[in-house]
Amino acid sequence: MTTTTETTIYTRYHVTFEQVNACHRIGSTTTRAAYYQVESSKNDGTEYTVEYNRIVKALTCTCKAGQNGIGCWHKRASLAHAEEYRTNRRLLQEKEEAQAVVEIAAEIASAEVAEDKANRVEADKAEVKARKANGYNAYNRKPFQFLR
Ligand SMILES: [Zn+2]
Repeated sequence: MTTTTETTIYTRYHVTFEQVNACHRIGSTTTRAAYYQVESSKNDGTEYTVEYNRIVKALTCTCKAGQNGIGCWHKRASLAHAEEYRTNRRLLQEKEEAQAVVEIAAEIASAEVAEDKANRVEADKAEVKARKANGYNAYNRKPFQFLR
């Protein structure tokens, strides 16, 4: 199943789901150091390497077309895969950040509830103490008098 985002990416790079699916991202999770192994559509078991060449500042592919400097679908599919990968990572990060906000808010709320409860317990204790000492008149003030 493809999402709207995927469909947009595939359309932009003129690739199919199967072609992008043939791309295997290799290397670290940092986007810069990664390269791709792309399964050949004609020769089973053959994989071509697509990587960024810093000197010529372009993608290179080890397939026949790529070696002759001709564009190939391996490069396009790798680009599509990379973009999809970045998008998914960003979405995941946003989701994690949103989750963190919810968790922090819940922590604050529960701390407030606990504090509230502690205050109520203290108030109850004070009331019990006052009633023990003065009975039910504990909270009734004596009338104000000038003359004593
Ligand atoms: Zn190629």
